Amino acid sequence: MGAGWKRAVVTGGAGFIGSHVCERLLAEGTEVFCVDNLATGSRSNIGHLTGDRRFCFVEKDVTRPGSLDAAPAPVDLVLDLACPASPADYLRLPIETLEAGSSGTRAALDLARRDGARFLLASTSEVYGDPLEHPQHEGYWGNVNPVGPRSVYDESKRYAEALVSAYRRTHGTDTSIVRIFNTYGPRMRADDGRAVPTFIRQALAGDPVTVTGDGSQTRSLAYVDDTVDGILALAASRHPGPVNIGGTDETTVLELAERIIGLTGSASTIRFVDRPADDPGKRRPDTTKAHRLLGWRPRVDCAEGLKRTVEWFARSLTP
Ligand code: NAD
Repeated sequence: MGAGWKRAVVTGGAGFIGSHVCERLLAEGTEVFCVDNLATGSRSNIGHLTGDRRFCFVEKDVTRPGSLDAAPAPVDLVLDLACPASPADYLRLPIETLEAGSSGTRAALDLARRDGARFLLASTSEVYGDPLEHPQHEGYWGNVNPVGPRSVYDESKRYAEALVSAYRRTHGTDTSIVRIFNTYGPRMRADDGRAVPTFIRQALAGDPVTVTGDGSQTRSLAYVDDTVDGILALAASRHPGPVNIGGTDETTVLELAERIIGLTGSASTIRFVDRPADDPGKRRPDTTKAHRLLGWRPRVDCAEGLKRTVEWFARSLTP
């Protein structure tokens, strides 16, 4: 059982991670008010939850005034996840992404302040930019190009972190910040442009698997169940964060593509394509803090997590 929350608001709850968070909170006995404008999420992600009378979904844009006014009072937990998250999505929705981390996060903070609720921002490893330190620990301030195309996401989250910290200092709001590293699993969109769903979709279709650059850039992947464990453990603690949550098993993008081709039994070949601007060369979280404070460490290894994800995509992509 979780922290015994009575009522939680989850912004971005119809998205990939958000839908798993809603599901887990409901399973732990928490009433969930999910707010999402479906910009990058979908009703199908939460379709299995809508029959539960403790679950309420409202289609609203959190950056619009009054969007959270309908939230029932009091809430004791606010999880701020509403933000486009894949590079393809935030490059398509640049201004909306900046607004999600500014007016959207502010609305969620005001709601937490209204009810004296615990608040948690879903921040990202992208605040470290193209890191000059490896692995990345929470004390590292990052290496972000403020005017590059990815800055809409990186700076949105960096601003959101500053806003959250200001609410804590100024209003005493009980805030926390989780810095999530690359997470994968069921309910990612096959066309969201992130490496795992793209490679799985291409491999299942027998198409060439497109690896950017020479594929030597690294990522450390976490299976969604582990990420959700980390998010909820941090929420249940009194810690202000930031705390890294992410996989520690670092792999090159080329190795990942080869692994997925192997798992799907596909005859796909690998095609090398241009690497996007400011794409980070290395990514691995230092998760010492998460382990020390929360007893958290990833439990689902890459072999098992990728297997479950491939099976899910194979089912969901079958007409
Ligand atoms: P996602 O795109 O699947 O989910 C984001 C959700 O937010 C979507 O359902 C979208 O419709 C909703 N949303 C966006 N703007 C909104 C707005 N203005 N009003 C209401 N709803 C809005 O992405 P995800 O991977 O599930 O990411 C969830 C959160 O976790 C994001 O804040 C993201 O930045 C963060 N995060 C994710 C990862 C990852 O690897 N998946 C890594 C780091 C951080």
